[in-house]
Amino acid sequence: MDTAARKKRIGERVDARAKALDRLALEIHARPELAFEERFASGSLADYLESEKVTVQRGAGGLETAFIAEAGSGGPVVAILGEYDALPGIGHGCGHNLMGTAAIGAFLALRDTLDGVRGRVRVIGCPAEESGNGKVHLMNGGAFEGVDAALMYHPGDRDEIDPLMLAMVNLDVELLGKAAHAAAEPQDGVNALDGLVLGWNAMSALRLLVRSDSRIHGIITDGGKAANIIPDRAAARLMVRSPDNTYLADLRRRVLACFEGAALATGAELRPMWSEVCEVVNTNRPLAEAFAENARALGRTMLARRPSDTHGSTDMGNVTTKVPGIHPFLSITEGPVPGHSIAFTEAARTPRALETMHLAAKALAMTALDVLSDAALLKRAKEAHDGRTA
Ligand SMILES: [Zn+2]
Repeated sequence: MDTAARKKRIGERVDARAKALDRLALEIHARPELAFEERFASGSLADYLESEKVTVQRGAGGLETAFIAEAGSGGPVVAILGEYDALPGIGHGCGHNLMGTAAIGAFLALRDTLDGVRGRVRVIGCPAEESGNGKVHLMNGGAFEGVDAALMYHPGDRDEIDPLMLAMVNLDVELLGKAAHAAAEPQDGVNALDGLVLGWNAMSALRLLVRSDSRIHGIITDGGKAANIIPDRAAARLMVRSPDNTYLADLRRRVLACFEGAALATGAELRPMWSEVCEVVNTNRPLAEAFAENARALGRTMLARRPSDTHGSTDMGNVTTKVPGIHPFLSITEGPVPGHSIAFTEAARTPRALETMHLAAKALAMTALDVLSDAALLKRAKEAHDGRTA
């Protein structure tokens, strides 16, 4: 079988499983689970792989809700990644119910087509993208060992081949004061909430001065226990993002200074805690071109990034720092719909979303086949990766 015939077969094998994939995507949509708690989603996807006679390693990389399966032999290894965690309050407002499902659809279709190809495909079920940097844990746990290229897609409202995904770091700030009766002995208290609000306002002033491609935002997670007690604890979770690592470091320093100043002013004690950094996505150009070509053959034209567009951040950025990878967006909506919204949650279970999931599974499998069967492509991808990360 030549590559064209194999690609045709990939399409047929995805179509043959379309109903089962739809059912999985809709069931996962109906039972949204937060980061590291995706037991139903990861279990359903792993069960389906096993029903297709695939050996699945559950709990991969030391994460209960991760899984790995591999097919093929020898040669290079291409990984197809799927996510399945949801957001608090709005469920699958990022469409991850469609991603793990597309990944296993792509994996199985390629497995059915690999006979005679030297190389392996590995599907990696990736928990905790919305928070927790699951892929970083998976990398540390060895799940990406030997991987030559990593492919995934993300549902969106525009077909975009090279989205700008920002580097990001979380800052948990905690202010500790001293409780006192708010009416009888306020003079004995140290108001942690006032400290937090002062720092928040300084941060808001800073936000007017930052570059338009960078972001600072957050929520207050603790504002005290009762209105008649001077709060002895207040806390917030902030996110700082930029496509520029040097500028991100500068923003980190300036955000922290807002709360240091507020702590000084109020006498509260500041306890800051930074998360690990979620890195910028480095879209690998040769792999992206191969994906775009396959998407085009399936009827979708991938568009370039618009200068004004920024997306969120993803732990896929850390993967693309290590290995050549892609993270294109495929639209599941008729027009612009913001991510992380109720409207996007609704979009993630429509016929259009499911059709796009089938297309994504095909394009991912076809691109993985390109990587395994075209040594020159993988060589170009590695050269582009080494050139960019050097
Ligand atoms: Zn997402």
